[in-house]
Amino acid sequence: MSAQTTTAEVLLRASDVTKHYPLRADGLSRRRKVLRAVDGVSLEVRGGETLGIVGESGCGKSTLGRCLVRLTELTGGRVEFDGQDISTLSTRRLRPVRPGMQLVFQDPQASLNPRRRAGDIVAEPLLVHRYGDGAAVRRRVAELFDVVGLAAAHLDRYPHEFSGGQRQRIGIARALATNPKLIVADEPVSALDVSIQAQVLNLFADLQEEFALTYVFIAHDLGVVRHVSDRIAVMYLGEIVELGETEALYKEPAHPYTQALLSAVPDIDDGTLSDEVPRERIVLTGEVPNPVDKPTGCPFRTRCPYARERCALERPQLTVTASGRRTACHFPLID
Ligand code: SF4
Repeated sequence: MSAQTTTAEVLLRASDVTKHYPLRADGLSRRRKVLRAVDGVSLEVRGGETLGIVGESGCGKSTLGRCLVRLTELTGGRVEFDGQDISTLSTRRLRPVRPGMQLVFQDPQASLNPRRRAGDIVAEPLLVHRYGDGAAVRRRVAELFDVVGLAAAHLDRYPHEFSGGQRQRIGIARALATNPKLIVADEPVSALDVSIQAQVLNLFADLQEEFALTYVFIAHDLGVVRHVSDRIAVMYLGEIVELGETEALYKEPAHPYTQALLSAVPDIDDGTLSDEVPRERIVLTGEVPNPVDKPTGCPFRTRCPYARERCALERPQLTVTASGRRTACHFPLID
C-alpha cells in the first residue's frame, strides 16, 4: 500500500497472512518440516483499483489469492473484506459475504465442469445464493452471457464446444453472477493464445469500468500485469518483496528481484526507463530455494547479484523508501 492510502478507500486488507503446510517428518528427523507457501503478507487493495501480484511459479501467489477470498484457511494473520474480518468467520457467517468476492481460475478447461451446460454453470452461484425463481435466473444468465460477449443462443452448449477464450468468458460470467465487489483473477490469461489474451484483458478492463469492480490480478508475467494493474506487488518465496504504483515500479525498480523480472520482459524500453531497468536480461543464477528450507536473512540472497554480508544475517522488512515505494531490501536500488 502506498503511504497515502486511507482506511475509507480500502476494500481488502491482509495483515501478516501466513499459509503453512506441515509436512510429514522423514525417518531421520523427528522435527516436522513446514512448507511456508505464504509467509507474512500484508497488503491493502483500494476499491476500484487493480492490484497485480507477480512472481515465479511456486512463489505462493495463487495460495495467497485463495487466502484473500478464504477459499483456503489461513494459518495465521487476518483478512478484512469490506470492513469485516473474514478470516475467523464460521461457514454460516461467511455465506452472505461470499457473493461479494469471487475467483476466476487460470485454466477455464479445468475449472468448468465438462458435463454441465454453460448456462447451468453460470446459473450455479445464482441458485446457491437464491437469486430468484427459474425465470429470473434464466434472464440473469442470458444477461451475463451478453455482458461477457457470448451469444445467449449458446447457453445449452457444453464447455468443450467453446474456444479457450470463450471458456474463460464463461468463467468470468460465473464470477460476475453475484454482483461481486472483488474478483481475484488467478493467471486468467496464461492458458490462452497470445492473440486471445488481449481480448480477455480488454474484457476485464471494460467490466471493471462498467461495474466498478476491484481486481487482484495474479500473473507470472510482468508484461501482462503492467497493462491491467494500478499497483503491483512482487512476490518471492511467499513474501512480498516490492509493492508500488505500476509505472513507477516499471521505470525504477527498487528490489533486485523486480529488476531481474523486468529484464525478462521483451520490448520494455519505451525511452522513459531509468538506469535501474536493465536493457540486457539478468539471468539469475541458482535455483529458487525450497520454501521448506528458506535461506536465513533475505530470502533472495542466494540469487541476488547485490548480496552482501548483512543480507545473510538480517531479514529485510517491507518498508517504505523515501520515494514512497515499499520494498524488502537492505540496499534498495532507489531511495
Ligand atoms: Fe539482495 Fe541483500 Fe537486497 Fe536481499 S537484502 S535483495 S540479498 S541486496
